[in-house]
Amino acid sequence: MKYYDKLVFELSRPGRTGYSLPAGSLSGNYSAPWEASEPSAVWRKSTLPLPEVSEPDVVRHYTNLSQMNFGVDTGFYPLGSCTMKYNPKINEEVVSAFNGLHPLQPASTVRGARQVLDFMDKALAEITGMSHFTFLPCAGAHGELTGLMLMKEYHMSRGDSARTKVIVPDSAHGTNPASAAVCGFDIVVVKSREDGLVDVDDLRPLLGPDIAGIMMTNPNTLGLFERDIKEIASLVHGCGGLLYYDGANMNPLLGVVRPGDMGFDIMHLNLHKTFSTPHGGGGPGSGPVGVAEHLVPLLGRPRTSGFHGNFGVILRACAYILTLGRENLLMAGKLATLAANYIKESLKDSFKLPIPSVCKHEFVFDGLAADNGVTTLDVAKRLLDYGFHAPTIYFPLLFHQALMIEPTETESLETLDAFIDVMHTIAREAAEDPELLHSAPHNTPVGRPDETAAARQPVLKYTF
Ligand SMILES: *Cc1c(COP(=O)(O)O)cnc(C)c1O
Repeated sequence: MKYYDKLVFELSRPGRTGYSLPAGSLSGNYSAPWEASEPSAVWRKSTLPLPEVSEPDVVRHYTNLSQMNFGVDTGFYPLGSCTMKYNPKINEEVVSAFNGLHPLQPASTVRGARQVLDFMDKALAEITGMSHFTFLPCAGAHGELTGLMLMKEYHMSRGDSARTKVIVPDSAHGTNPASAAVCGFDIVVVKSREDGLVDVDDLRPLLGPDIAGIMMTNPNTLGLFERDIKEIASLVHGCGGLLYYDGANMNPLLGVVRPGDMGFDIMHLNLHKTFSTPHGGGGPGSGPVGVAEHLVPLLGRPRTSGFHGNFGVILRACAYILTLGRENLLMAGKLATLAANYIKESLKDSFKLPIPSVCKHEFVFDGLAADNGVTTLDVAKRLLDYGFHAPTIYFPLLFHQALMIEPTETESLETLDAFIDVMHTIAREAAEDPELLHSAPHNTPVGRPDETAAARQPVLKYTF
């Protein structure tokens, strides 16, 4: 264990302090405000057991802590379905300029913020082909729930209360059926074909007067564009249902295809994925929901109440769109698609590629090509030793050893090549020394925690 891997409490020595001020220079002239105003009844009875350390120890503690984790600022992070693109630092500058806003400020004093929301409504409408957006939802799943509530409201407002079911493809992101269930719908699963696309023949018999709509991700979670979307849209509309678009992964389609033109009625975007807000570990997010013209009245007004959603994320997305400009925004999706296909083609001899067609922003391997007893988890852990974050693993559920790789457009050719190199190396190691992979990672502060326990019962505080 390195000295600075010790907790700050373990570094503590009685009486050590981080700073000192010359005695008497402040006292006498001023009294601290809390001394003057707070009644002694609310004073703390004993001192807090804070660590007693020097200032450099504190700085090193936090700096070292930050290095124990993996972030997009420390290395390539090809986590499929998560769009871990680089987050330009200018976005943070822009956000900090709005830091002083309070959600209850009079509207006349927040004209700039309102302009941002107005601009974003128009920009996202142009990008997606929807009519208007609400910025209330604070995450993708939150957007899904909002969108499904709109779907329900649409049917109810027409006196059509028999539509209790929502269709979800078997390749869908887990939040889709979860959101539909939370919204009170029953879920009907439509199967994918061999080629990974929704099976239209399986869909047809599912449609009827009990169907509220279908939720689709396009490109789907296998990174494949649902080519039959026009036919699917007319079938679903034909039975009186609506189409919901999960736009969490809109990245590859930016400026190329618009959900509105594909026939979708309701959608959400993940501003924290496609539009470059740092995310992970549960936040922060923003999942604005857009609707087609005929549903705009259901959005209600104001569309930005409730403290304006996650305004910081909306600001970052705004900065991202404005700094890229129309021309470069149109390049993002194409470069992301190129990068994904480049990695896929470069690695398909070492890894099993169940669906070989051209992908969009991401694709899925089904484990190593050769069977040496080395699992996808082993590969993922070994990647950390080489300084790369693992792809998404064991999702989608369609493949038992799924490795879902999404490079995004922000990585250089050299980075992609370095990753490809390491993946080939790992495939070689799997053949020559499988044990090396079973026990990986070897170079990280934490090896293989019990992932369920780490997520459900995390140990977040020091026990004295
Ligand atoms: C990330 C993601 C979601 C959920 O978004 P959250 O902000 O994590 O709630 C939904 N669908 C797809 C396809 C996603 O990739």
